[in-house]
Amino acid sequence: MAKKFKKKPFRDWLDTLARIVVKTDDNFTCQIQQSPNCAGQMLPLDKNCQWCHIKSRSRNDLRWHCLNNITGCGQCHQWGHANPNDFGVWFAKTYPKRQEIINLIAQQHPHTWYEGEYKAVELSLLTEAKRIGVDYMNIPERFRMRLKRKLEELR
Ligand SMILES: [Zn+2]
Repeated sequence: MAKKFKKKPFRDWLDTLARIVVKTDDNFTCQIQQSPNCAGQMLPLDKNCQWCHIKSRSRNDLRWHCLNNITGCGQCHQWGHANPNDFGVWFAKTYPKRQEIINLIAQQHPHTWYEGEYKAVELSLLTEAKRIGVDYMNIPERFRMRLKRKLEELR
């Protein structure tokens, strides 16, 4: 019998997937590079290598969305939060098309998510993880075997 769907742990799992996908895709390198103390390239498990959002991650439809996700070092992440206007201007100038689509999504009314929507995000993140060759050793230990198994199941 299928296990009962538990939202909170599944969201943690999706966070883990989204994190490693964006960091791998960005080669563990800060894409913001606006702080004078920017760390540039980092190690995969470096706490300073962070999953950043353009618009708040409070909405599910933007939380795990590749267009709204970007890798930043801790210094630039902080810079973005401390200077939201400068951050917004920098992003819109650097990624105008992404900004346009993020804005369109943000204009939609958020709705309650159910199992199917969470599972659809999982599949798309796993597919992307496989495509870009995510290394399951680059995520926290407690999720490694699950990612390894899920990537194998995709074959
Ligand atoms: Zn940086």
